[in-house]
Amino acid sequence: MHDFYSDTKTKPTRAMREAMLEAPVGDEQKDEDPTTRFLCERVADLLGKEAAVFMPSGTMCNEIAIRVHCRPGDEIICERSCHVIGFEGGGPAALAGAMVHPIDGVHGRMTSDQVRGAVRYPSRYDPRSRLLSVEQTANLAGGAVWPLNQLNEIASVAKEHGLSTHMDGARLMNAVVSSRTPAADFAAGYDSVWIDFTKGLGAPVGAVLAGSSEFIEEAWRFKQQMGGAMRQSGVLAAMALHALDHHVVRLADDHTRAGRISDHLRTLSKVTAILPVETNIVIFDLSEEGPDAEELADLALDAGVIIGEFGERRIRVVTHLDVDDGSVEALCAVFSAHLS
Ligand SMILES: *Cc1c(COP(=O)(O)O)cnc(C)c1O
Repeated sequence: MHDFYSDTKTKPTRAMREAMLEAPVGDEQKDEDPTTRFLCERVADLLGKEAAVFMPSGTMCNEIAIRVHCRPGDEIICERSCHVIGFEGGGPAALAGAMVHPIDGVHGRMTSDQVRGAVRYPSRYDPRSRLLSVEQTANLAGGAVWPLNQLNEIASVAKEHGLSTHMDGARLMNAVVSSRTPAADFAAGYDSVWIDFTKGLGAPVGAVLAGSSEFIEEAWRFKQQMGGAMRQSGVLAAMALHALDHHVVRLADDHTRAGRISDHLRTLSKVTAILPVETNIVIFDLSEEGPDAEELADLALDAGVIIGEFGERRIRVVTHLDVDDGSVEALCAVFSAHLS
C-alpha cells in the first residue's frame, strides 16, 4: 500500500527503534528521565525558549497551552480551518472554557488588520480577547507557510492589546526546511510553541511544548492533572531525538515529491483547483465531470493507493518518510487513469 492519507502514517524505522535500546531512562514525572530532559532542552533551544515539556501528543500541547493562557470566558483568535477548532473535540470549550473567534484567512493566514479587527475592546459585555493562535504550516490550507514578517506583524498586534500568542507547530520543521528560516525566528513572537514528532519527523509518539520557565511550570500542572505525566518516557524521547538528527533535512524530499504531484495534477482536466504547494501537503478539488472524492478514493484503493477525502470533491495527499518515488508514480498513475 502507498499511503498518502497523512504524514502520521509513518512507521518508526529500524534505526529509530534501535535508538530506544541504549537510551538512559528514569521517572519522567519526577524529572528523572535523562533522555526526556535532553530532548526538552534541545527543543527549547531549537525554538529559542527557556523551557519545554514532553507531551503524549500535539493535541495535548495545544489544549494545555490554551488552558495556561485562558480563563473561562476568554476568547482565542485563530484561523477558521485550524486544528484547534476542527479536530480537538471542542477542547478549548471543554477544558479551558474558552471561546474561539474564527477568522477567514487566505491560505490559512490572517492579516494584521484582521487580527486587529477581531480584538474586542474591554467591556462588561464582551468576552475577553486573550490569545492569538496560529498554525505553522497551515494544514488545511495545504501546508501553507506563514512568512516570518506576517507572523511577527500579527504577534505585535496581539501584544499591543495584551494578548498572549501561541503557535501550533505540528509541521513547523516543514516550514523551516521549505523557507530556510530558523525555527526560533518563526517562534520569536510567540509565547508558546510546540513541534510534533509524529508528523513528517516520523516518530510514533510525542510532541514537545516550549515557552518561558513560568509557562512550562503551569503547563506541567495541567499535564499532571490530565494524566499526561509519564514514567520511563526516555524510550520515546530517544526516537524523537533520532528524528531530529535524521529526519529534518530529508523533509525537503517530501516537498519535492509534493511539488511533482501538484505538477502532474495541473495537466489533468478533471481537477479544478490545486492549493499552492509549499511543503508536503497537496489539496485539490475535483470537477463535476469526474469521480467525486469518495469514488476516487475507492478507485485509488483498488490500485493500492490511499488518499484522503476532505470534502465531497476535495482530496488531500501528504508525502512523508514512507512514500518514495515509486509511490508517487503509483499515485500519479491513478490520477491519470481517472482524472484525464
Ligand atoms: C496533527 C496536528 C495536530 C495534533 O497533533 P497530534 O500529535 O496528532 O495530537 C495539531 N495541529 C495540527 C496543525 C496538526 O496537523
